[in-house]
Amino acid sequence: MMKKRVCLVVLFVLLFSLAGNACGEYSFSGDPDAVEKAADAVFMLEVYDQYNRKIAVGSGFVIFQPTLLATNYHVIEDGAYVIAVSDDAARYVVDEVCIASKQLDLAVLRFSPSVAVQPLEYDATDQLKRAQTVVAIGSPAGLKNTVSIGNISAFFDQGHKDWIQFTAPISSGSSGGALLNDQGKVIGITTATYASTQNVNLAVRISELVNLYRQWDGQTVRKLGQITGSGTAQTHAVSVPSASGKVWIAKSGKKYHSNPNCSKMKSPVEIDLLQAIENGYEPCGKCFK
Ligand SMILES: [Zn+2]
Repeated sequence: MMKKRVCLVVLFVLLFSLAGNACGEYSFSGDPDAVEKAADAVFMLEVYDQYNRKIAVGSGFVIFQPTLLATNYHVIEDGAYVIAVSDDAARYVVDEVCIASKQLDLAVLRFSPSVAVQPLEYDATDQLKRAQTVVAIGSPAGLKNTVSIGNISAFFDQGHKDWIQFTAPISSGSSGGALLNDQGKVIGITTATYASTQNVNLAVRISELVNLYRQWDGQTVRKLGQITGSGTAQTHAVSVPSASGKVWIAKSGKKYHSNPNCSKMKSPVEIDLLQAIENGYEPCGKCFK
């Protein structure tokens, strides 16, 4: 009799645990394949000034449309153009801004030509709770598409921003990255971290980005250098690259040149700047100065 009861208890425990698993809530953080797929929509951003100097590394993610890339304003500040590096290391020149706000520290950029990327889904209902699981995807210190998991710690307002405080580790370079909830939907833009603390990290709420995006007319774009005050080709004797620009390369060497008569190059061949960058060419130190 005793034995039977033990068996029954074991059976019940087994049944309940099976049922629990089958009916359990979906967990994005426990679904590495889904996280991998989400990472396809996240890019490392290398930001260059009008002198082709790399001035910042940040993150960005595709949202709303396959052509649109969200990031923090402070990432692109002072930039003339951005090279967006995909999860599988493809490189795209991005120099068009749809809408940007320094106050909100947000910007929406546009790929041109567009990329074949499924935009991330988002949840702007702001029904967030402390202890909720979050997944951050970005490029801390330029380590492309690093994934970290943590939880929401708190919420607070500071100036014009409505922050989500969270523990998933981020650092410089993560700025502009995606903060996703455990359903795999974006709830924030990873923006800041307190250097003197451990894991006090801040994200701007996705609702702020959605509101900003809605103010865009869907057509007008400006060149990045015009937004940030950089890339003012008229006042500087430099050629500002744009995604549609032409440059020259030689058969030997891995530099591209703005001047077809540059002494650093023999038998120049004209190609698209975009093509040059995608093929790993870098700006000539002589004619791009
Ligand atoms: Zn040159």
